[in-house]
Amino acid sequence: MPRRSFLPDEPKKRRRRRFMIWESMCVLSANDGQCAYWCSRKAETMDHVIPFANGGSDDLDNLLPACRPCNYEKQGRDPVRWYIAKYMNEDWHGRGSLTSPGPGGEAGLRGRYLTFHEEILEGLDELEAVAAEIRNPARQAWFLYHFFHHKYDLGARNFFSAELCLHWSKDSIDKAREAGFPDPWSPEERARIDGHRAG
Ligand SMILES: [Zn+2]
Repeated sequence: MPRRSFLPDEPKKRRRRRFMIWESMCVLSANDGQCAYWCSRKAETMDHVIPFANGGSDDLDNLLPACRPCNYEKQGRDPVRWYIAKYMNEDWHGRGSLTSPGPGGEAGLRGRYLTFHEEILEGLDELEAVAAEIRNPARQAWFLYHFFHHKYDLGARNFFSAELCLHWSKDSIDKAREAGFPDPWSPEERARIDGHRAG
């Protein structure tokens, strides 16, 4: 198998940025507020899908809502490596070979790998659906408009946190979602913003 290196020539030290409250709310409320990593617990953290330490971006594009246990367990791995490390490390109890049936009855190591391959592709489709929700421009604009004035997210259980804002604003967020996150700016404001962007 060919070996390739994706390491940049000169790795630069990067600093994490702080997140605005509207950005955290946008991520944490996606997927109906549940952890994106298939566990159905409540999301309390934002996970860098491609870990920040591995060059993953700090943009909303690279963030998913995650529960604390999943975020902690995933650590510095992308979801594929994490999934394989978590579920493909089976004990063959002294009777395994390349072609003997695996613990799940699959045809050898190849069959076992193929099963995981399908599961991982399905899991990635689900993650991409949550990422698409977060990227939705109308949804982002809605959170920006309504929560920009709250400034920076100081983290869970602080007075200035996305967690508390989400709690207080649950009804209005639900209503906006049902209405498809209508443009919060008036037509005049919108024309001015678009004109400014175009100019
Ligand atoms: Zn989880």
